[in-house]
Amino acid sequence: MSYEGEMLKKLKMPSKKKVGEELLKVLFKYNGTVREFSSSEEVVNELADRFFLNPDQRTAELKRIYRKENRIVKTPLWHRLLYRAADSLAKEKLITRPTSTIRLTNKREWMLTENGFKKASELLNISERENDLLPIKFYELEKLVRKMQLAKSPKNYNPISSQKRTKKTTQNTSIRQRGFRQAVIQSYDFKCSICGLKIQSPKSVYWEVEAAHIVPHSSNGKDDIWNGVALCRLHHWAFDVGWFSLTNEFKIIVSSGYYKMPDEFGRTGNYEFFKNHLVPQKSIFLPTNEALYPHKHALEWHRNNVLHL
Ligand SMILES: [Zn+2]
Repeated sequence: MSYEGEMLKKLKMPSKKKVGEELLKVLFKYNGTVREFSSSEEVVNELADRFFLNPDQRTAELKRIYRKENRIVKTPLWHRLLYRAADSLAKEKLITRPTSTIRLTNKREWMLTENGFKKASELLNISERENDLLPIKFYELEKLVRKMQLAKSPKNYNPISSQKRTKKTTQNTSIRQRGFRQAVIQSYDFKCSICGLKIQSPKSVYWEVEAAHIVPHSSNGKDDIWNGVALCRLHHWAFDVGWFSLTNEFKIIVSSGYYKMPDEFGRTGNYEFFKNHLVPQKSIFLPTNEALYPHKHALEWHRNNVLHL
């Protein structure tokens, strides 16, 4: 047995496999990325806590002699085990190495891949439905979101897909849908474009805001940022049922039914909730980058097909 192996055994260190599994869970907890271990004592300690490592296990050092320079190099055993576990996950393509992630995010961090994300949700017993809404990044998704956010708005854009959507969602379309959602809500700074509501669940996990399709999936609308707008749940519903639409200048147009609503509708107590949060002609809140604005072809379609005049 190697010197390192003997030390691991003597100190009863956890197995590389177990450390890897725990690392996947920690990555999931931190939304898909953690900084490389040399610059993040926090994660190194958090993982040590998860294994209840004692002070000896945390501080043991491997001493190696560099013969050439005739000096002894000391490496903390726990760091080394953690690195080896991460390295094996990278070999299994469950995470990306800081040297690859930096090319995408400009940060030296370990990042989940799509398979790593799936494996972590399995380990944590998280259902697929719940999973779909979690704002967790993984490499393939992040790549797609960045691509969507960097694309130029096309002049001749058709928001309707020519390919029929099949019931069986392929793996690619599910990344596409997730990418659409993430790219839209990020571009609108997690706010509803109509009322500006920005709110998360108490544990800061889920965003309330939704990425609404302008041409909906049921009419073969594309999962493109130009066919999307960020809306809170009330406004998403009101947009989908035709209570309002948007002009090409991004101003609110409301259905004529709005003026004929019974008095007790759309109120909370004495407050005109619905009308105060849907003001005709008001400009909506938009992304900072103009290339990400909803496309006028999608808005035209919505005015012609969904808005209830
Ligand atoms: Zn809203």
